[in-house]
Amino acid sequence: MPGRRVLRPSTPVLRRAPGEVQYGTDPRWAVRLVGLDAAEEAWLRTVSGPVRAASEHPAVPAERRARLVQVLEDALLLVPAPPRRATTTAPGGGEADLGVLAALRPDGAGHRVLAARARSAVAVVGLGRLGATLATTLATAGVGSVGLHDPSPVLVTDVGLGAYRVRDVGAPRETALARAIDEISPDVRTGAAAASARRAGAAAEPPDVVVVVEHHAADPARVRELVGDGVAHLSVVVREADVVVGPFVRPGLDPCLTCVDLHRADVDPCWPQVARQLRELAAPQHEESVLAGAAASLAAAQVLAALDGTVPRTTAACLEIPAPDAVPRLRGTSRHPRCGCAGPASAAPDGTPLAARTSGGRGRG
Ligand SMILES: [Zn+2]
Repeated sequence: MPGRRVLRPSTPVLRRAPGEVQYGTDPRWAVRLVGLDAAEEAWLRTVSGPVRAASEHPAVPAERRARLVQVLEDALLLVPAPPRRATTTAPGGGEADLGVLAALRPDGAGHRVLAARARSAVAVVGLGRLGATLATTLATAGVGSVGLHDPSPVLVTDVGLGAYRVRDVGAPRETALARAIDEISPDVRTGAAAASARRAGAAAEPPDVVVVVEHHAADPARVRELVGDGVAHLSVVVREADVVVGPFVRPGLDPCLTCVDLHRADVDPCWPQVARQLRELAAPQHEESVLAGAAASLAAAQVLAALDGTVPRTTAACLEIPAPDAVPRLRGTSRHPRCGCAGPASAAPDGTPLAARTSGGRGRG
């Protein structure tokens, strides 16, 4: 039935005091209704399904019910009834994510976010514990294609976080992780990675976002080579006892990795030679559990923000996540005047992923 309105899903309806009802608990949108009589209060607390269908109540006059429904409308608590089935690659049809996604949208249409994620493609380069957890999180959240890039073998120290199992030790990380994700979300494509296809000169579309996980220090030249021009990307760097997530770069719009490097050299003139030595160090074999888990979640949140059409918090900023408590600190950055990355804007200021604007849909089959 068109126009059917329901209470925003997952909104708790709570009795605070006689004549006072509270909707929701999140300070961003929770509201209180006061001055209700007992019948109105009882009626409101039972309104959880279709509001107009529930509006029959002998002790609350129709005019008063209509007024209360209007109050709920004004508080953005009523949304269109969602469709029975939505297109998503997320486990369980995305049921676990739907409530939160619906809460964040004015129209409550969390299923549309999931449908868009199902049409999206992300590539992850570097699949230790952190990269594997990130890729698994993206697949769980409903991203339709998760390209996996790391042919190095699964180590004993990779097992656990991020879905590697003891049986995977010695197998190529990208192969073992593809198998694990296939067991979690069979509809997610993990095979031929878009970035590999780009390097091979195939006519595959680039991913919407590429995440590059590195160790010691970011390498702007390597990232540029891996990602290619015009593709949004997120840098993640595992350091001695912390992880840096960011910046998220929408080419042409945001400060890039070279900007960050140039700013650092302004503060520390020796940074270029220090960075060069760091980039030549062998990557460590291990990634600490809590840092890997926390950084993977925050990195996944940046990617999903971009896919969902908002601007990731780490555009023009980095999140530094230190051991042992993993409480992140946001450190801002800006475009460096000597970088020259400020070309004409090639992505939408609303954060719409670059490839999504040009590909016009990346449906499965
Ligand atoms: Zn730059």
